[in-house]
Amino acid sequence: MKRRQLLAAGCACCASVIAGRAWGQAAPDYLAPQRFQRPDLTTDEGGLWAMMDREEKALRRSPLVLRDAKLTTYVQDLACRLGAGHCPDIRIFLVRTPQFNASMAPNGMLQIWTGLLLRMENEAQLAAVIGHEIGHYLQRHSVERLRDIKSRAAAGQVLALFGLAGAIGQLAVLAGSFAYSRDHEHEADRIGAYLMHRAGYPVAESAAVWSNLLDEARAREGEEPSQSSPLFATHPVPPERRDNLAQLAKLMPGGSDGKDRYAEHTVHLLDEWLQDEIKRGQYAESLVLLSRRIAAGSAPDLMRYYRGEVHRLRGMTGDHDLAWNDYQAAAAGAVPPPPAFRGIGLVARQRGQKDEARHAFARYLDLAPDAPDAALIQSYITELSS
Ligand SMILES: [Zn+2]
Repeated sequence: MKRRQLLAAGCACCASVIAGRAWGQAAPDYLAPQRFQRPDLTTDEGGLWAMMDREEKALRRSPLVLRDAKLTTYVQDLACRLGAGHCPDIRIFLVRTPQFNASMAPNGMLQIWTGLLLRMENEAQLAAVIGHEIGHYLQRHSVERLRDIKSRAAAGQVLALFGLAGAIGQLAVLAGSFAYSRDHEHEADRIGAYLMHRAGYPVAESAAVWSNLLDEARAREGEEPSQSSPLFATHPVPPERRDNLAQLAKLMPGGSDGKDRYAEHTVHLLDEWLQDEIKRGQYAESLVLLSRRIAAGSAPDLMRYYRGEVHRLRGMTGDHDLAWNDYQAAAAGAVPPPPAFRGIGLVARQRGQKDEARHAFARYLDLAPDAPDAALIQSYITELSS
């Protein structure tokens, strides 16, 4: 009954925003329900929580979880400011996976993948993503999604296969791979926009997140965005959503994006995340990302080096020249990454420019004598000297 009242209040509030009245400073009641009590295990919601508890237990032991106290505390604090009274129930897990994804389970487990963190340009964009996930959490969308799946024909097959005891767990897995409904996405967007506005961030950054992601997805010719990111599979992002968020931003102006704070808490991990990024082999997407970061002047030497790597590895017509240009620019930058000299050496070696290659390789080994590929590069120097 209470749930029904909350939803009804939510719909009324959304209508007022659509009608052009911005939310005031006070949180609408439905955004701040009481902290959730653990549901009874005999209910479907209780089964869903138990399933997520097991997943969380496994995640705690996973080598993929980032053990970086500085960044984890920073993200946890951000989630707490957005979630306000729900802060004690939100547990952050940063997962080393180079794809764009975030998800919040009904038991409060919030996963954020490093491929998403790499793509955030400032604190406000991360606030937008977390605010959106908290929106799903506050409205218990995953429970509704589970019930929706249960009511479909697939449920009958699951029941037949696993019996009643195993059915809830299997349905939860199934539900996790289904998209939220369009209405759920819009509701989570509206709540996320409100939460980030309340915490002092510009709502326009939420539209920027999706706009950037759509640019990357479109760079992959002939593929649907849902195939390039798990987030697109469970959170469809039509341009309409981006445009709605841009509209909301007009209704909730102001805020500061926290760009420097975000850079300060992530800069030490960028190299690792970029290595993971190019190992995905999705070069078109990586080029869009890296070019955007270079244009924004964010760690430009490192980004130029990695864009050079992407061109060299892709190896299409003209790529080696583009790689050469990026390596040279990175090597001449204020903070040249040592591997930029290795890159220059590799391209020069391929072009038959022996002296230039030898000189660049030697510079690389001077700057990074303990590099894992030092012996290989030394063998190139020997070969080029003969
Ligand atoms: Zn969503």
